[in-house]
Amino acid sequence: MAEEKKRSIDKATEELLEKAEKEQISTAFFRADEIRPCPIGVEESCCKVCSMGPCRLPRSKKGEEKRRVGVCGATIETVVARNFARKIAAGTAAHSDHAREVVETFLKAALGQAQGFEIKDEVKLLEVALDFNIEIEGKEIKDIAVELGRKALDEFGKQHGELVYIGKAPLKRQELWRRLGVVPRGVDREVVEVMHRTHMGVDQDYTHIIEQATRCALADGWGGSMISTDLQDIMFGTPVPVVGKINLGVLKEDEVNVVVHGHEPFLPELLAAASRDPEIKKLAEKAGAKGINLAGMCCSANEVLMRHGIPCAGNFLQQELALVTGAVELMTVDVQCQMQGLQDVAACFHTKLVTTSDRAKIEGAVHMEFHPDSGLDMAKKILKMAIENYPNRRGSVYIPDQARDIVVGFSHETINYLLGGLFRASYRPLNDNIINGRIRGVAGVVGCNNVRTVHDSAHIAMIKELIKNDVLVLTTGCAAMACGKEGLLTPEAAREFAGDGLAEVCEAVGIPPVLHMGACVDNSRLLIAATAMVKEGGLGDDLSDLPVVGAAPEWMSEKALAIGQYFVASGVFTVFGTTWPTVGSEKVTRHLFEEFEEIYKGMWAYEEDPVKAAHLMISQIDKKRKALGLEKARERVLFDMAMRRELA
Ligand code: SF4
Ligand code: SF4
Repeated sequence: MAEEKKRSIDKATEELLEKAEKEQISTAFFRADEIRPCPIGVEESCCKVCSMGPCRLPRSKKGEEKRRVGVCGATIETVVARNFARKIAAGTAAHSDHAREVVETFLKAALGQAQGFEIKDEVKLLEVALDFNIEIEGKEIKDIAVELGRKALDEFGKQHGELVYIGKAPLKRQELWRRLGVVPRGVDREVVEVMHRTHMGVDQDYTHIIEQATRCALADGWGGSMISTDLQDIMFGTPVPVVGKINLGVLKEDEVNVVVHGHEPFLPELLAAASRDPEIKKLAEKAGAKGINLAGMCCSANEVLMRHGIPCAGNFLQQELALVTGAVELMTVDVQCQMQGLQDVAACFHTKLVTTSDRAKIEGAVHMEFHPDSGLDMAKKILKMAIENYPNRRGSVYIPDQARDIVVGFSHETINYLLGGLFRASYRPLNDNIINGRIRGVAGVVGCNNVRTVHDSAHIAMIKELIKNDVLVLTTGCAAMACGKEGLLTPEAAREFAGDGLAEVCEAVGIPPVLHMGACVDNSRLLIAATAMVKEGGLGDDLSDLPVVGAAPEWMSEKALAIGQYFVASGVFTVFGTTWPTVGSEKVTRHLFEEFEEIYKGMWAYEEDPVKAAHLMISQIDKKRKALGLEKARERVLFDMAMRRELA
């Protein structure tokens, strides 16, 4: 008998896939068996930017590039670079359109026009206002917020000059970007310029196309994404460590289950508030339920988990499976990473799928548009819909008994505080422990799930290997959720999984060896944390000097490519797994994997095997340590009186 295909390392996922198979419910896992990736598309050797094509320029069977060009004469380098740049533009557009929505809602909140929203973190408001060169002396909080909102909005349409947040990077990095001419102007302008340059018959030098893709990606990391993280923190509160629970076992058989899925935290924030309303609670009880159980999915989950401890039902590939439990009354989706297949699964049960953004509808789903001026009313309406739907459960209900405790919410500010304490908040202890070798380096392991790998397996194998080798891991997005399910997000995990040096530091500070820093848009927190390490001193004067690396072992989204490109252009060695989108051209791949090190002092790598990828990262960390003169562990010796006398 053929061995059964392993689809996930997560038990809850496996159990619900069995249920789906038995009940003949289609999920991404089964559809992936039926659709094999196109071999030409997978190496990005196909150009379809004009109607004389599509022009297919695949490599030969032996893998060598053929000397072929498209109808217009475009070379394989141009085709591959175009496809790569367009993906980065799409990823940047997604993060930045989210960010624009955040800024517009922030402005409404500042003007008192957003129901249920306010300025929660005044300290961060003042800090960010100073970053934007806003005079704060003697001004009302509300006026500062309005001014900040307007200035932040200008960052999107700015036609000339530099994005304000470029000034937050280490000076040496800023100088390098200026010398290379890749400092972004307005976020929108950079996205548009990628689309223009990759239009038929425009930019046809691959290095020049990649240069614009880099400028665009920097506009994401040091622009759109960073703005959205900061303004969300000001509106909803900067995350501090909270205890939560994760996995599909957080759904409850005797409560009204409402799942929030997507990326924008506005409605989820208000649903969290509305679910505590006594009137709503009473209605739920009247319908025969013990209460309302709000749970998150994907990055919306990360947002409400970090700020309210709302349980997280799962990551990207678990979205359909949450509905397969038969226990979800209602799922809201806004933008990004929500599968159209959700509606077909919802139709197998009583579940209502509700689309809430003006940017995204799903055929067959209920569309209820979220507007901040009536947001709280809408949140209550949605909860009432879910309550009314509770008695309609039909078909078999099965909730796997799988849920783990986690500690999340490690914003840059929190790390600063945890390491240094209230009166001397700083990254000094982190830098010191890197210098003395207890911590070998820091890795940002982020990104999605991909049905072409065993769900969650690459994240976990890579991260366990890293922490075993004393590398502190910072994580976001679906990678963070994989860690939660595996038990890596608790302080106890340090003793069980980390090397002695890292475990000692984690135990002394009381932190897990893997720090959950938020949603995928929050990768900008990693840039700020790395910049804080440079500013603290002792580890060089640019991001590229730090023993810091990045990875996305199960990536699938265009946003992941934009994130990777801004990590690399910020000087960070970054390795991706699953598949690599420039395989069609050796020259383009060499440019990104080798020549980039010369240009940006950071480069891409691709390695399918997550443990081998972890060792690529570790060798990069060791290379940086050597360059800093830290190749051997150095103890920081505190001299006692006897030792001092000996010196004299
Ligand atoms: S732009 Fe050139 S390579 Fe691309 S589809 Fe048109 S003719 Fe073919
Ligand atoms: S990490 Fe990837 S799959 Fe997960 S929510 Fe973010 S973009 Fe989507």
